[in-house]
Amino acid sequence: KSSLVFHTVAAESQRLINETYSAFVQGFMPNRARPDVDVLDGLTTAIVVDQQRLGGDPRSTVGTATDAYAMLRVLYSRLGTPHLGGPGAFSFNTATVEASGALSVGKEHARAEKVSFHRTGGMCPRCEGRGSVTDMDRTRLYDASKSLADGARLAPGYKAGGWNARLYTESGLYDAGKPVGEFTERELHDLLYREPVRMKIAGINMTYEGLVPRIRKSMLAKDRESMQPHIRAFVDRAVTFATCPECEGTRLSAEARAVRVAGKGIAELSALQIGDLAAWLARLDEPSVAPL
Ligand SMILES: [Zn+2]
Repeated sequence: KSSLVFHTVAAESQRLINETYSAFVQGFMPNRARPDVDVLDGLTTAIVVDQQRLGGDPRSTVGTATDAYAMLRVLYSRLGTPHLGGPGAFSFNTATVEASGALSVGKEHARAEKVSFHRTGGMCPRCEGRGSVTDMDRTRLYDASKSLADGARLAPGYKAGGWNARLYTESGLYDAGKPVGEFTERELHDLLYREPVRMKIAGINMTYEGLVPRIRKSMLAKDRESMQPHIRAFVDRAVTFATCPECEGTRLSAEARAVRVAGKGIAELSALQIGDLAAWLARLDEPSVAPL
């Protein structure tokens, strides 16, 4: 019954620590009831280590989860050469975007001003900050000898008659009664890669999109461990992951990778063991960023 004891002690310790925060902060924290025990005293501050997953975002790393990477981004935005921009310019969660348009100023005698917006992000445009690119084994997506109407698709969640399957069989872009192996190049492209397009299926407005990008969005948005078992089994069979050829797995844009502090790039530092990183930082003598 040791786990019962440890959980009780951990819950009480956590509750005691939470009580030291202001009522405002406590409002944002998980609310724990006092454990159902007669007496529990003499508890010192406990550090509770559990084995829960950090979260399902495939872009999270040791650096982002601990905020160490956020500190490095500030360091590079202040000291890096060439100067690239704020900390966002080194974030692999932030894409570089550009927009422009007209802005009307005032209600009467309104005049239009041309404005443009630019944000520099650190995201590698090829892999969108994941560090790896995916490829799908077509032979695992469909059985070329079967037609779509016969259930040629092999991805989970695309059972004949379901909405996912009807999107393809009733799209009208190809003959659902023809074996996929006999599709023309154009038809195969529409099936696998077509850009999103609105269409009416069975009287309902739906968005049609090729099977490959659709599966990528719906199934590969989580990292492998957080997937449901049947999805994970399919992904293991059908999808291959390769290091992104553009950023070489660093997740960062070429601009962000080129910036140096004391001869080192942020990607190089990110690849270090945490102890080596601490030692490198300790040798850096920069009073302007000393609090970091
Ligand atoms: Zn990349």
